[in-house]
Amino acid sequence: MADYDYDLFVIGAGSGGVRAARLTALGGKKVAVAEEYRVGGTCVIRGCVPKKFMVMASEVSHALEIAEGYGWSFDNARFDWPTFLEAKDVEIARLSGIYAANLGKAGVELVHGRAVLKDAHTVEIIGKNQTFTAEKILVATGGRPWKPENLPGIEHAITSEEAFHLPELPKRILIAGGGYIAVEFAGIFAGLGVETTLIYRGPNILRGFDDDVRAHLAGEIEKRGIKVVLGCQHEKIEKTATGLVNHLENGMKLETDVVMFATGRIPHVKDLGLEAAGVELNDEGAIKVDPYSKTTADNIWAIGDVTDRMNLTPVAIREAAAFHQTVYRDNPQHFDYEAVATAVFSQPPVGIVGLTESEARRSCSAGVDVYVTRFRPMKYAFTGSEERVLMKLVVDAESQRVVGVHIVGPDSPEMIQLAAIAVKAGLTKAQWDATCAVHPTMAEELVTMREKQSGATSAG
Ligand SMILES: Cc1cc2nc3c(=O)[nH]c(=O)nc-3n(C[C@H](O)[C@H](O)[C@H](O)COP(=O)(O)OP(=O)(O)OC[C@H]3O[C@@H](n4cnc5c(N)ncnc54)[C@H](O)[C@@H]3O)c2cc1C
Repeated sequence: MADYDYDLFVIGAGSGGVRAARLTALGGKKVAVAEEYRVGGTCVIRGCVPKKFMVMASEVSHALEIAEGYGWSFDNARFDWPTFLEAKDVEIARLSGIYAANLGKAGVELVHGRAVLKDAHTVEIIGKNQTFTAEKILVATGGRPWKPENLPGIEHAITSEEAFHLPELPKRILIAGGGYIAVEFAGIFAGLGVETTLIYRGPNILRGFDDDVRAHLAGEIEKRGIKVVLGCQHEKIEKTATGLVNHLENGMKLETDVVMFATGRIPHVKDLGLEAAGVELNDEGAIKVDPYSKTTADNIWAIGDVTDRMNLTPVAIREAAAFHQTVYRDNPQHFDYEAVATAVFSQPPVGIVGLTESEARRSCSAGVDVYVTRFRPMKYAFTGSEERVLMKLVVDAESQRVVGVHIVGPDSPEMIQLAAIAVKAGLTKAQWDATCAVHPTMAEELVTMREKQSGATSAG
């Protein structure tokens, strides 16, 4: 170590980088972390956290509608976008400050600026005439939004990054994409009273999710006023005197004020000097790593979205912990990507864990048993709402283990965190059923589903 400035140099102070840096410094090593934007990374600054605040702001309009059914009245209820933005930004700054302070308390040196690898042990901070050497380097640079740069007029479109700071709330928005970020922002803007259109080129939203979830959610978000246009490709975006016109290849022209592309994210590897350090990319453009997050360079590791394995904050954090155990605690560990629960904060939200029905049909040789229920939540009894909850259990027919849980409806992200414990533990349907219900709740349906969907057991 004596030959290097640091034992570990981390590039990127996001979810993964901060955790790895802190754990390693607390373990007595000399650690620095470079951050080119704000400490906290995507999750805290322009991802999960501000997004959830926006969802919560937006959901109030729905809560007010329900409240009216219960006899409340809010004659002057109105939403003020600048007030919300200011409150959100104050909280985000507070959280970022806590992350920076925690780095300091752990003894991590924070370097502000863009870090680039010069060779396998040397990092340069661009524009600052600073160079550091380190025995080991961890790349945790995350991802960034992708949009089709060759689409005429794409310069008029924003991504999720700008959506957090729109100077004013538009009257109309068009969101391109069908993944979770597109669906979440469609819900946010629709709830805030913005005329919202979601355009996706595929046959349905949320590719990769269970087909029942996809169909159910598409129907539910339309009930909340979102116009969903499927199977469409963009031709160009035209700026006019009154806004923007989105031209689709099928001849449709959609007028709007804001076009937001949420068409995916790519690993943040551009101009990072990876080649100079001997770090290779995989075919998808992410940093190639082994199960222990080691890159093709002997002293360099990579974690989080830049490796494009499972792009979620808790996963980046667990990969950081596994890296630390492996490299500094002589305890080789790798993260187990099976049965990771996840949520889509659409309105209504989605919570899922484990296999979709079609994945289970491919992997369970004796077939699957499927249990599905759809019902109106009790909360909507006085509102005339047509909204329905979907709950689905996918069970391996042979072992009777519950291998997939899929919920669309209020509080499903909270429910799925607990259901994930049972799925991860490999509990059987009989064990779920032996668990006594909590009444009256929506979650009780999870332990009271007795009727198999007809014809469900099949190797399909
Ligand atoms: C809109 C949105 C909503 C999301 N919602 C959720 C959610 O609800 N739940 C969930 O689990 N996940 C969510 N995610 C995903 C989650 O934010 C990421 O999976 C997570 O932040 C990945 O952590 P990371 O450490 O890999 O990278 P990041 O958190 O992206 O951190 C990377 C950091 O590296 C910095 N950096 C990059 N290059 C350099 C360089 N050369 N030098 C110095 N610094 C550099 C960046 O500025 C950034 O701060 C969301 C993402 C987005 C975009």
